[in-house]
This record gives sequence, C-alpha cells and structure tokens, in this order.
Amino acid sequence: MQKNRRWQRRERPRGISSYNLDQWTSFRAILEAMGAMDAAELQRLRETARPYLRFREELDLFHKRHVDGHCTTACFEKGISACCGFESIFTFFGDQVITVLFSDEEDMDSLLSPLTMPNTTGKCVYAGPAGCLWKVRPISCAMFFCDDVKKNILQNTEGIEGEWKEMQKREKEFTWPDRQVLFDDLEKCFMACNVDSPFMYFHKSPGLLRIKKQGRRNHGGKEAFPEEAISTSTAK
Ligand code: SF4
Ligand code: SF4
Repeated sequence: MQKNRRWQRRERPRGISSYNLDQWTSFRAILEAMGAMDAAELQRLRETARPYLRFREELDLFHKRHVDGHCTTACFEKGISACCGFESIFTFFGDQVITVLFSDEEDMDSLLSPLTMPNTTGKCVYAGPAGCLWKVRPISCAMFFCDDVKKNILQNTEGIEGEWKEMQKREKEFTWPDRQVLFDDLEKCFMACNVDSPFMYFHKSPGLLRIKKQGRRNHGGKEAFPEEAISTSTAK
C-alpha cells in the first residue's frame, strides 16, 4: 500500500508522553499491517466496517438534530468544551483501525503529527483548530454527553429519550462482546497479523473478557465467537 510507506519510515518520536507514544505506536503498527495487505483484503475490511459507519452517520444526525445547537451556545461560542478538554481520551484499537481504513495520507498526517510533539494545549491531543482530527472519531467521544445535556435534553425530552436509548442499543451491537462484535473482530484480525497494542481491550481488559466469557456461557458453552470472525485470509 504505497500511501503508508511514509509512515513506516518515520522514526519513533522522542520526548513525548507515554499516552502519545502508545497512540503513535499502535497507529503505526496498524499502518504497517495494512501496508502488507493487498487491495482486496483492505476492501474486505472496509466492507466489514460499513454497517458501523452507517450507525455513526445516524449518530451524527442524532447529534445534529438534538444536541449540536445546545453545544454551540453552551460551549463553542464561549470557547470552552468539556468534551475535548481531557488530554488522554479513551480509544479502542478498533477505533484506530476504522479511522485508518477511511483516511487518506493527508488525514493521517494531520492525525499523527500532533502525537510526535509534547501536548501543551491542556486539551485532547487530537483537538485541531477546526475540530477533531479523527476521520471517524472514537466511539467513546461520539457517545459522550455531559450531565447538562443528559439531564436537560436526553432524559427529559419526549421522543428524544427513546431515540437515545436506541442509539445506545445500536452501539452495543458493535462494542459489547457478549456476542460477536466488530471491535473484538478487528483486534483478532490484527493479532493474527502479529500486531499488539495496549488498546486491544477486548483481549486485555478483565471487564470485557468477563463479558465475553459470560456471552459464551449464554451460548451453551459453544464457541460463539470464532477466531476467524473477519477473515483468516487477512492473517499473515
Ligand atoms: S456535550 Fe456538554 S460539554 Fe460537550 S460540547 Fe455539548 S454542552 Fe459542551
Ligand atoms: S478524539 Fe476528537 S472528539 Fe475525542 S476528545 Fe479528542 S478531539 Fe474531542
């Protein structure tokens, strides 16, 4: 994959926080693994992620219809936003894979460059001048609403509460591993390519591992989540 060669040549950045370094290293491992895949394999991965992207489009619409106006007056016009004010935001490995899959070289350049420098902004390292630098921002960000929004819009407005619950249910179809889910599958797929990342929570977090185990029990102890979930042909 020609586009990624530039990233593969880049040296490990120095003098940055462990958060930046972990993010950088994980993104780089993904780019290298994708660099070894052929076009058909990459296309297959993109197709696997399509239903999730459709869900994200619906979630964006939900934001636009019900919350964005409030955020503009409550935060953006005042130049503050509790949403992107934390330096180390939570990301899944799957978030990283998905954003890389749908980014071009320029997008990757904007996304990875801030990681190579110390973050002195006091905000999320991915908060750019025109907003979030991720092509598909992490699911924890997309599903986050402050207490003010939860209390005054999501929980107390007729119609919206039900819609919000539906969005939460849809999110679980991709991220709640009591069944076979995309975010777990993406980790398996890259692990089979010898990629390791601290953000592979579906294989490292005791909480998520417990949910997976319980899910298997609910399926009568059978292997409900086959290791070849996405593609064994992708594995090298
Ligand atoms: S969700 Fe809350 S904190 Fe975040 S931008 Fe909207 S109003 Fe501000
Ligand atoms: S990743 Fe993007 S949306 Fe999430 S906190 Fe950072 S800038 Fe905000």
